[in-house]
Amino acid sequence: MKAEMEGQTDPLRTVSSMKQKPSEMTVAFIGNPNCGKTTLFNAYTGANLKVANWPGVTVEKVEGAIDSHGVHIHLVDLPGTYSLTSYTMEEQVSRNFILSDQVDVIVDVVDASALERNLYLTLQLLELGKPVVVALNMMDIVEKRGMEIDLHRLPEMLGVPVIPVSALKRRGLSVLLHAAVHHRGHVRPDRLIHNHSDETKHRHNHHDEFAMVYSDALEDKIDAVRSMLHKRYPDIYNHRWHALKLLEMDPEVTKNFPVDDPAHVIDRSYETDIINEKYNFIEEIIQEVVVNRAARAAATDYADKILTSNWLSIPVFLCIMAVVFFLTFFIGDMLKGYFEEAIDFLSQGAGGILAAAGAGDMVVSLVCDGIIAGVGGILTFLPNICILFFALALLEDSGYMSRVAYIMNDIMNKMGLSGRAFIPMILGFGCSVPAIMASRALENKEDRYRTMLVTPFMSCSARLPIYILFSGMFFPNHAMLAAYSMYIIGIVVALVSLLAINVIRKDTSDNALLIELPEYKRPSSRTVAIYVWEKVKDYLSRAGTIIFAASIIMWFILNFGPSGYGDMANSFGALIGRGLTPFFAPIGLGYWQITVALIAGISAKEVVVSSFAVLFDGLNINSTAALAALAATLGQSGFTALNGYCMMLFSLLYVPCAATIATIHAESQSWKWTAFSVAFQIFVAWIITFAVYQIGSLVG
Ligand code: GDP
Ligand code: MG
Repeated sequence: MKAEMEGQTDPLRTVSSMKQKPSEMTVAFIGNPNCGKTTLFNAYTGANLKVANWPGVTVEKVEGAIDSHGVHIHLVDLPGTYSLTSYTMEEQVSRNFILSDQVDVIVDVVDASALERNLYLTLQLLELGKPVVVALNMMDIVEKRGMEIDLHRLPEMLGVPVIPVSALKRRGLSVLLHAAVHHRGHVRPDRLIHNHSDETKHRHNHHDEFAMVYSDALEDKIDAVRSMLHKRYPDIYNHRWHALKLLEMDPEVTKNFPVDDPAHVIDRSYETDIINEKYNFIEEIIQEVVVNRAARAAATDYADKILTSNWLSIPVFLCIMAVVFFLTFFIGDMLKGYFEEAIDFLSQGAGGILAAAGAGDMVVSLVCDGIIAGVGGILTFLPNICILFFALALLEDSGYMSRVAYIMNDIMNKMGLSGRAFIPMILGFGCSVPAIMASRALENKEDRYRTMLVTPFMSCSARLPIYILFSGMFFPNHAMLAAYSMYIIGIVVALVSLLAINVIRKDTSDNALLIELPEYKRPSSRTVAIYVWEKVKDYLSRAGTIIFAASIIMWFILNFGPSGYGDMANSFGALIGRGLTPFFAPIGLGYWQITVALIAGISAKEVVVSSFAVLFDGLNINSTAALAALAATLGQSGFTALNGYCMMLFSLLYVPCAATIATIHAESQSWKWTAFSVAFQIFVAWIITFAVYQIGSLVG
């Protein structure tokens, strides 16, 4: 208005920024909530803040000042807002203030890592016809994500300076202020270059004036309203903004700036059209400006075409799991030899030292056949465990694991659950304890219980040593296949159980799947290393505690009996085992040694293996020759490959380990449910192993 009086005619040039001395100016910070506005503001003003309320309302007003580039700059932090409509108090306050003469330059703080969402406010600010400088904040995050923003193209499309900053790392702060000082009084856009995809749809050429690219239909409307406004309010400087607000039927502008509209140009509210066309323009900006995201998103789309397609997704999933287990077995086996030698060496060394120190036979036996055989036996599986978790970490960190829930959604829906319930189940490949805890993420209580019930069927890493031992013993040529079948059977049994439950108790709840599929990325070595180390630490600490204790207990109950020390066949363990053989005989496991090992395995599943080592006198479970010999010995008593397979199968399915049972109780807060859960698993394990053994016996 003042400029008008000074005789300037171009309405776009008439922003009054001369109210203050040139050496003084006011900069308003505006942006979406959480864009880092306050952090940026504080980076400039430090603790020099004045906090008050805006006159008449309880919206907070934060002010500060800084001397920079020879100018005394007043800074005002506006409330976070997504748009400039006048619906909320915050929006009204922000809008009225930045439209007022008091503000010389608007600094639009944009979260560069969420450019798409943040640009909506930016486009609204550009329409105000005031000097705007975009502070592209959070650039550190953008860089960390490997995203790239074309800082040359973005200002060309917006017509205002765009300054990359990081409020947190205090980068770009000085340049930003410099741009703000320089941009005072600048209203015409800097340099607008826009590639219209279809020239015929854009008759209007406002490119020296506005960043906005509305459709011709809307631009016609805007022009018509603009000339109506011009007639009635020649003094306002931003007719285009007012025209847009009238077309949106903005309550405040409609009330304060009524126009004669004989041709009914404003025949309805064009708010939705204007919003949609802004978003279309934002999409164009993102397409042209965000470099890596586009490439990566395209790569993700391409990968997902195969990895989540209807027909290929499940075969691909099974193949990926097969590769994981191939690596686990193959590379694990190559490393196992070294561990075997080390354990042998340790056992002989300890035996020698103890004997030399005059320890009795019993002590030597406890240390060598009990502790070293039990704990050491478990330690030799460390390479396999490492590789398994390494592979799982890669799948997880690359973004594939979240696809699995998506892939399984259709199948899971048939079981009355959402695909999300498959996530705890996948985690079960690692360890049932965190997997059962993960079922918390399911909202529906019934869904949680169903998921908890079947998660232990997923083959956890502790069962791997059992498969390696028995498949090595009985299927030396197809060990990997035999073990891999356990993983598949585990998944199938879990799914079939869910299906059966759903038949008994039909679930009617809504199972819409809302999973955000992240873009695929190269796994970070740090994340993977931490993941693997955590699991290995866990495994080692179990070897040092539960398995250590269980090995000692096993040694005792196997070496002592009613008649004292020495005779394993008449030990307490043998008595217990024989007592239970009737239960295990129909499923091919009617041998007291097996029974004892299975009972001991409840403490932790690896204990099945360490018990075996104790049972067979410090059997070296990593020596092929020793395994072949043991298989031959067992074979003589009728324990053949079929029995071996049944042993693996029963170990897979029967009661989870003590820690898992405790977790089921902690999560369900019910002993009744926990007992049911354990009974259910034993029941399922017995039935399935029974079927396999009986059918196998008939066929074989
Ligand atoms: P406001 O709601 O816009 O005032 O946002 P805040 O200043 O409160 O910041 C929101 C969050 O973003 C805080 O946790 C800040 O530490 C963080 N943040 C702000 N700026 C940056 C930045 O440049 N980089 C990173 N990494 N984080 C930032
Ligand atoms: Mg804030």
